[in-house]
Amino acid sequence: MELSYQSTRGGEAGVTASQAILKGLAADGGLFMPCFIPKLDKTMKELSLMTYQETAYEVMKLFLTDYTEAELKSCIERAYDSKFDTQEIAPLSKADGAYYLELYHGSTIAFKDMALSILPHLMTTAAKKNQVKNKIVILTATSGDTGKAAMAGFADVEGTEIIVFYPRDGVSRVQELQMVTQKGDNTHVAAIHGNFDDAQTGVKKIFGDKEFADFLETKGYQLSSANSINIGRLVPQIVYYVYAYAKLLSTGELADGEWINVTVPTGNFGNILAAYFAKQMGVPVKTLICASNDNKVLFDFFQSGTYDRNREFILTSSPSMDILISSNLERLIYLSTGCDAALSAALMKELSEKGSYTVTGEMKEKMADFAGGFALEEENRATIKDLFDRTGYLIDTHTGVAAAVYRNYRQSTGDNTKTVIASTASPYKFSRNVLEAIEGKQETEDEFQIIDHLAGVSGIPIPLAVEEIRTAPVRHNTECDADQMKETVLRFLG
Ligand SMILES: *Cc1c(COP(=O)(O)O)cnc(C)c1O
Repeated sequence: MELSYQSTRGGEAGVTASQAILKGLAADGGLFMPCFIPKLDKTMKELSLMTYQETAYEVMKLFLTDYTEAELKSCIERAYDSKFDTQEIAPLSKADGAYYLELYHGSTIAFKDMALSILPHLMTTAAKKNQVKNKIVILTATSGDTGKAAMAGFADVEGTEIIVFYPRDGVSRVQELQMVTQKGDNTHVAAIHGNFDDAQTGVKKIFGDKEFADFLETKGYQLSSANSINIGRLVPQIVYYVYAYAKLLSTGELADGEWINVTVPTGNFGNILAAYFAKQMGVPVKTLICASNDNKVLFDFFQSGTYDRNREFILTSSPSMDILISSNLERLIYLSTGCDAALSAALMKELSEKGSYTVTGEMKEKMADFAGGFALEEENRATIKDLFDRTGYLIDTHTGVAAAVYRNYRQSTGDNTKTVIASTASPYKFSRNVLEAIEGKQETEDEFQIIDHLAGVSGIPIPLAVEEIRTAPVRHNTECDADQMKETVLRFLG
């Protein structure tokens, strides 16, 4: 059965999966949503016998219905291969009574690889299917991890250019080095003078600029997005939640049908939304615990029903969660209105005009599967240290937020349901903050001394992605103001 997609703001409908992936964002600024969430047509028992790649096919075929079996399988085989340092692709580690789903075994050591290693293949396949002759320009705002993963995925992919904007002072040193040393003639990156929200708002503005799109068209270009607003990011992220449950079933950690909770360190709300989709597809997930850092706009939202971005933006040691406008929440809003695009559009208009909106009681009830929590810097550090000291298991600063929130949730609710915690980055990606957490003092060494020091203390081998940037030459040095992004795009495209 063909699944079609529509904009959460009502401006577009009847769009195929491949068209939605090509466009990224709908023309009215809305996000593409399937008209219903399909159910898995295999049992968990059947899925428990499958590899990651086979599971990916079972999930993705239900959403990307205009891709042929051969096309989809080819995309999956090319994405989830030896770029990952384990055949399991997304292994689980049990520590302190929780299951850490390690989503950082891909080429850029953060969970963005899970979707961004397949998105370029889905997109080039979509371009062929839709007879696109233009060059596709991938325009992306990043809080640090998406940018590198997108550039790694799209580097030297024929028919594409990739442009990334990141907040100059808002990423870790490893994240920055990973981006500015990226190879590939079609890769471009600029540091903006602003924060992630400025970058994301700027990118969305460019997408909404019809005149600019027409101008690019005359030059043979069309824009698309690698951000998690693209449905081609969301769908591959559902896979690892299905896989995690099936794996826990196959290893006997779970009984068939047993409930689990999922805790996700959240920024743009893409990862946790994928877990929610997995639940709707039939995975026995009870509560989705949404973990925020000091920028706890989502916690406040789940408490009060009011989303309010009018607050101070705080830079933390979990920069990929330093976000005040969580774009993918719009998809949950849309679902909670019963797919009422007019109401969703009105709320998003309020968000852009006055920076806040309040949902109805009925909508809030429909979001009851979510529990919000937050952990401040101090608690995050203490959690990373405590887990490491007691178990020897080391987590990064984003996963630290999730671990702290999970611990608080369990204490305050007494809910002892087995829990999967999404572990979103290698500790090496945030070496300085991780080392400071476990040593309990400020580190004065330079970045690579810290990395070696961390390797000595933890015994975890340094990933190739980190070794590579030790000596790689810097290839990108563009900076711009947040209101100069359009001009910068033109300059990159020559
Ligand atoms: C992107 C990212 C997050 C936040 O994920 P969202 O899908 O934006 O909520 C958390 N941790 C890390 C390491 C990330 O790169």
